[in-house]
Amino acid sequence: MIKIMDNTADTKIEPSVRPPIVVVMGHIDHGKTTILDWYRKAKVVESESGGITQHIGAYEVRHGDKTITFIDTPGHEAFSKIRSRGARIADIAILVIAADEGVKPQTQEAIEIIQQSNIPFVVAFNKIDKPEANPERVKQELARENILVESYGGKVPSVEVSARTGVNMDMLLEMILLLAEVQELKAVANKDAIGAVLETHRDPKRGISATLLVQDGTLKRHDIIVIGRTIETIKILNNFLGVQTDRLGPSSPALVAGLSEVPSVGEPFLAFSSKPKAQEYLKQLPPLSTVETRKNVVAPVAGEDEKPIFNIILKSDVVGSKEAIEESLKKLESDIIGINILRSEVGDVTEDDVKLALATHLITIVAFKVRIDSSVRELARNQNIHIVEGDIIYRLLDDTKQHIENIIPPIIERTLIGKIKILKLFKKEGNKQVIGGRVDDGSVRKGAVVDIIRNKELHGTGTILQVQREKREVEEVPAGNECGILVDSSITIREGDICETYREDKIKRTI
Ligand code: GDP
Repeated sequence: MIKIMDNTADTKIEPSVRPPIVVVMGHIDHGKTTILDWYRKAKVVESESGGITQHIGAYEVRHGDKTITFIDTPGHEAFSKIRSRGARIADIAILVIAADEGVKPQTQEAIEIIQQSNIPFVVAFNKIDKPEANPERVKQELARENILVESYGGKVPSVEVSARTGVNMDMLLEMILLLAEVQELKAVANKDAIGAVLETHRDPKRGISATLLVQDGTLKRHDIIVIGRTIETIKILNNFLGVQTDRLGPSSPALVAGLSEVPSVGEPFLAFSSKPKAQEYLKQLPPLSTVETRKNVVAPVAGEDEKPIFNIILKSDVVGSKEAIEESLKKLESDIIGINILRSEVGDVTEDDVKLALATHLITIVAFKVRIDSSVRELARNQNIHIVEGDIIYRLLDDTKQHIENIIPPIIERTLIGKIKILKLFKKEGNKQVIGGRVDDGSVRKGAVVDIIRNKELHGTGTILQVQREKREVEEVPAGNECGILVDSSITIREGDICETYREDKIKRTI
């Protein structure tokens, strides 16, 4: 079995505290961008070059002697995209709610995402300067969503702020630092970097560049990094201010330029001190098809799915148990899932195991009666690598089975519910498009997915976010009527297109 040589592996280094990485979420127009702008202007320690000159997707602020890294892309879409690729990027979320408007649909979505990701959060009741601001009413609304803020006897910290006037913006930072302290966020600076791709940029002058977030270790100029299946050399390393630097430690955003391929957002990266080490690492990874499964976290449609392959790294105490567990794990293979034992060894769970798991999606580490160092645990947690552990074989197998069932993509069953002929595209902002159409068949419903048909061919897909009839928001518009719809799709919808709308049911697979 090839081992990834880690030049610092045998010098035991204690993890030290690292800055928290913060994401700002909430409903549109509630002030996410204004909050991020405020901190960028007021709290970034400006360098000689004059502060942030280029948006790279993240920046660092200083408060007292502490640093906080902000992810500079507001909204949960960016967050979900990054999360769906595997790595857990943010340590803490700020849930922004305008105190004059209260809980809105995207607030609810943000709450759901935060809860699914299991990250702590602080509620910022924003726009407190407005006379209509009524945070007490918003607290009640939050209670109805089962979010109890501290002043309501709950555990969720909250603060009333104004991103316009700056009121209590420092207090919000202090709350974040407090949450960070409770979480005991740690990293080992003195080792090769691990992290994730935050953003990618293509520029005629600089070529392909990307913002990386260093989650552990230190990224150095001239390092060799593996992103996905590509080996890249870090020729240019800039900090978030665009200043050339030689090294960037845990929680730092890093701008790397001169890449040979555009990496995917959310993709993990691993740094190595030499090319042969990076090549050795790549050699161990499972075949590309399983990695492709990782990329397409989108669930397959019933009938046309390829069997996903689930990868397992098994660590056990002695040869006897290793063989017994390996045999039982292989038996989990069925016509809905393949099992690939990627590594099976006697010994503790090491950083090397987590690194191997990093570039593969459907993967878990199964640990039987072995030790897991706290730094290894922390690394696995940050990278969303699940470790199933135990000292009773049948329980370990049950837990593994359950974990596999939880993470294999469900089967999607689609039911056609209606057809809309597109009469006009009114407005397009990013992927959001306001469209007028006529329901020719069935009905159009909020939340439905759409296939966009142009010249009788499938052109793309999207989701219906809102439905209107005679300018009033409704749940459904039946056939024979005109409707207005808000569609989220990367395809620009045109007059004359047909949108076929579907209901999608996710069916969990059992093995
Ligand atoms: P986002 O969509 O959540 O990013 O919201 P924005 O940051 O773009 O803010 C939406 C609008 O609310 C803008 O016109 C801001 O100027 C305004 N706004 C943001 N924060 C405040 C605040 O604290 N007080 C007031 N009065 N207006 C604010």
